[in-house]
This record gives sequence, structure tokens and C-alpha cells, in this order.
Amino acid sequence: MKGTVIKNTGSSFLVKTDQGPVLDCKIKGNFRIRGLRSTSPVAIGDRVTVNQSDSIPFISEVDERRNYIVRKPTNLSKQLHIIAANIDVALLVVTVNHPQTNLVFVDRFLATAQAYRVPAALLFNKTDLYEGAEREYQEAVCQLYTGIGYPCFRLSALTGEGIAGLRAFVEGKMCLLSGNSGVGKSSLLNALCPGARAKTGAISDSHDKGMHTTSFSEMFELSENTYIIDTPGIKGFNTVDMKPEEVGHYFPEIFRESSHCRYGNCTHRHEPGCAVLQALAEHRLSESRYNSYLSILEDFGEGKYRSEF
Ligand code: GDP
Ligand code: ZN
Repeated sequence: MKGTVIKNTGSSFLVKTDQGPVLDCKIKGNFRIRGLRSTSPVAIGDRVTVNQSDSIPFISEVDERRNYIVRKPTNLSKQLHIIAANIDVALLVVTVNHPQTNLVFVDRFLATAQAYRVPAALLFNKTDLYEGAEREYQEAVCQLYTGIGYPCFRLSALTGEGIAGLRAFVEGKMCLLSGNSGVGKSSLLNALCPGARAKTGAISDSHDKGMHTTSFSEMFELSENTYIIDTPGIKGFNTVDMKPEEVGHYFPEIFRESSHCRYGNCTHRHEPGCAVLQALAEHRLSESRYNSYLSILEDFGEGKYRSEF
């Protein structure tokens, strides 16, 4: 029987089977996934095969993951903690003001999602607060990211603007929800599914609670097969092993231009024949995006991205 892992209780895993029922499953002691040293061989979001021939159902197989995001090891064992696997979309809540979300932060989030092969979308919340210049600015930012290919939603958790469209978008998906504090993550969750917290309770990842008290994630079931993981989540590149010349791969529009650069290992800063610099000069590439790209590259100079594993 196949299903999706929706909770790690610490001693067992809750698996929502494709037939509907949720089973409390064990894993056998010698169960390992090759080539990955993680705190648990099974993660939330994993597609698994459940064997029910014994008295207790157990997970006999984990399908290959489409993607997964990890938390940096906090202890010396260097074991990874997988926050979630097979994520359909990473949602970043953004407010152009009250509080202001920095675009470098947005771009780092998007690039990290890209590096993890997780599709991303932007949720522009608190649109009810903006008029005049702020509204124009929000429009410009929305158009910038829509143009690159990221779905953008204009929302107000307060008035309900855009919520129906967002609900349709997340339907049937395993979603991550991130954003700076105060942008309205909790309010949006409540608007999407009134009483989500009260009704399902937080399906929290118990491993997280014990090990990382400052940053545990919670999963909410919005409807059948629609899950939202509220997580401090994917914050930076430090969990991705990467070389400077690869950073451009995670900015889709820079990546597209870079196929025309003279040198294959071009870092798009000063190299002759750089198509990215040319696109910048011709205003086909946004300066804010290019600056974010540079800011990630600068971290390499400071040695932040030494390979960790
Ligand atoms: P979180 O920290 O991201 O979970 O943010 P909260 O959901 O706690 O919201 C932070 C503050 O912003 C609260 O005072 C909310 O009432 C307010 N807020 C959230 N969404 C909206 C919105 O769409 N419009 C307005 N005007 N206020 C909002
Ligand atoms: Zn270049």
C-alpha cells in the first residue's frame, strides 16, 4: 500500500495512505537510505510503501525524493535533519511595507528554493494598507517576479482579497510557508482555513521540538491532501553545496542570459563577452536582482559556503 508521511511522532510515522486511512507505521531498525546521513531515514512528505503483513504496519520502502530541504546540523554528528521532502511549492510571504521585506532576502529565498529544486511563489500580503507610491511599488515588484516566472499573489488576510485564488493554487499541494515575522503568515493560514490550528491542531514534527527548540516546524492539513508546513524554513544557501559559478544557475533570468557568455565559467562580474552584464546595461535584467546575485557571490569571499558535508 502506498502513502505519504504526514507526521514523525518520534517513535513512529503517520502515513496517509492513498486509499484514505492514516496508519501509524514503524520502520525496521536496519532501514537506511543509501548515501544520506540524516537524523531519520523517513521524512514528512516522503512517498512510502507500507507493508501490513505483520501485526504492526511498517514502512518497507521510500520512493526517490523529487526534492527535500534540510536544516543545518546543529550538533557534532553532522547528521542532516530533513524538514520535508517532495515539496510542491515554497510560499514566501512578502510585505512591501509594515514591515518592509528586503528584496535581497526575497532573492536569496528564491535562489535557495531553486537550488533545492522546489518551485516557489510569492504572496504579497497586506495590500489593503497600500495606496499611492506603495501600491505602485508593490505592482512593480509583482511584475518583476511574474516576468521571471514566479507566480505572485496580491493578498489581504484582513479583507480576504485574493484568498480564494490562493486556496485554489495550494489545493492538493504540499506547501512550505515562510516569511519574516509580522508579514502575516499566521493570519494567512487562518484566512485560508479558518480554525486550522484549532481543528487539526498543529501536526508538529516531534523530532524538531526536542532537538531544535528555537525553530520547529508545524504542518497544517488544509484539506484532503493539502498541507502547509509553517517553517522558519529555507533561509539561505548554507545548506547547499555550491560553487561561485553555479550561483547564476539559481536566478532563472541570469541563467537564460548566461548561455550567451563567452566563458562557460563566467561569474558575470567583469569577464569580457559577458551576456549578463550586457543584459544589465540594456535594462533587460533588473538591477535589484543582479545586486542580490552579487550579494550571494560576496558570501563566497567570506568563506560562508565551504562544503559542509
Ligand atoms: P506572522 O508573524 O507572519 O505570523 O504575522 P501575523 O499573522 O501574526 O500578523 C502580524 C500583524 O499583521 C498582525 O497584527 C496582523 O493582524 C497583521 N496583518 C496580517 N495580515 C494583514 C493584512 O492583510 N492586512 C493588515 N492590514 N494587517 C495584517
Ligand atoms: Zn557572464
